[in-house]
Amino acid sequence: MLMANWEKPLCRELEAHIAECENCRVVVNTLSKTVVLYHQLPVPEMPNAVKERLYKVLNLDDLQRSTQDRGMESSSKIAPEA
Ligand SMILES: [Zn+2]
Repeated sequence: MLMANWEKPLCRELEAHIAECENCRVVVNTLSKTVVLYHQLPVPEMPNAVKERLYKVLNLDDLQRSTQDRGMESSSKIAPEA
């Protein structure tokens, strides 16, 4: 997933570097193991930052939907006039 975001020249450079650098190979191996473990977890633990963002998005979605459901009746009342 991360790889997809890398620009191709950078990706090639990294691949070449990783092929020669053991430190980076270890890092990459650890990362991919972590990703595999993450996918195997039955209930993955979400970081708080992600949770907050998710809740925000859900709340926004809820607000938008309820505003649409109420239709024009309430939106004409709320119409902002300064
Ligand atoms: Zn390196």
